[in-house]
Amino acid sequence: MRKEILVTNMQRFSVNDGPGIRTTIFLKGCNLKCTWCHNPECIYPYQEFYYMETKCMRCGHCSEVCPEGAISPPGPNGEFPKRYRNKCTSCMKCVQECPYNALEIIGKHWSIDEIMHEVEADRLFYENSRGGITVSGGDPLYNSEFTVEILSRAKEAGIHTCIDTSGFAPWEDLKKVLIWTDLILFDIKSLNLQKHKEVTGVSNELILQNLHKICSEKKKIRLRLPIIPGVNNEAEFIHAVTELARGLGDAVEGIDLMPFHNWAMGKYKQLDRDYLFTEINSIAPEDLVGFEEIIKSYGYEVTIGG
Ligand code: SF4
Ligand code: SF4
Repeated sequence: MRKEILVTNMQRFSVNDGPGIRTTIFLKGCNLKCTWCHNPECIYPYQEFYYMETKCMRCGHCSEVCPEGAISPPGPNGEFPKRYRNKCTSCMKCVQECPYNALEIIGKHWSIDEIMHEVEADRLFYENSRGGITVSGGDPLYNSEFTVEILSRAKEAGIHTCIDTSGFAPWEDLKKVLIWTDLILFDIKSLNLQKHKEVTGVSNELILQNLHKICSEKKKIRLRLPIIPGVNNEAEFIHAVTELARGLGDAVEGIDLMPFHNWAMGKYKQLDRDYLFTEINSIAPEDLVGFEEIIKSYGYEVTIGG
């Protein structure tokens, strides 16, 4: 097994990723490519870099040091250098050599011991708030072996564990992760197979099969519904998911509505990726009160924002 893993963020004092105060570990790598992804820097399982145009002085040094020709020199009329990400091999020479800190590495290699050291620092907060750790991403199941390692170390240390997942993984991998997981935050994006494929890149069949299997293992689940304009922002979806939850017996502890926001727009620009939601406004929590009422009417505990 690999000795280190790429982590984009160790977020201490999280209050929206499971019960109590938590440390959320964002791993790099995901099998889905959701069009609205709020953490686009976590999708690919290799190191990348942000390019910040406002800091770039167009000196051209990045272009000179890149061994792959993945950055063009600045243009004669003051044009900024262009990045050709498909040629990039993640050597990070450009980042190290930029004299103006206009480039920033995404993803740092952490060992399990380093992760646990950071996690242990907030043990008192977990104990006083009934919190713990949450492994997120990306998707913790993309790196399932490493996720097992983190969760098992936490459980052995008496720390509550959550995963925040799309549920898209071979059952054998998921099963090993579940042994060490107290609560699963299980995302549902669409119940329509075609729509799911269109907006995430994969079918929802495996996801729904896994959801049923998790519940038959008597594991506790919170369903997380990212509410996305043009994808699932409709009462029909909420009714359908709540009906699905009913069929899962008492495994479902509650349902979290996660409103779409466009705060990630800047990250897409810095990653040189297209963002399809530029013209779409964020959804305010108060806009979801109607959906909240529908879920409550089925008898489920519900949050807006997790
Ligand atoms: S080295 Fe830095 S400041 Fe110079 S052109 Fe490249 S990104 Fe811009
Ligand atoms: S990370 Fe390496 S290969 Fe990629 S653009 Fe920078 S210097 Fe070139």
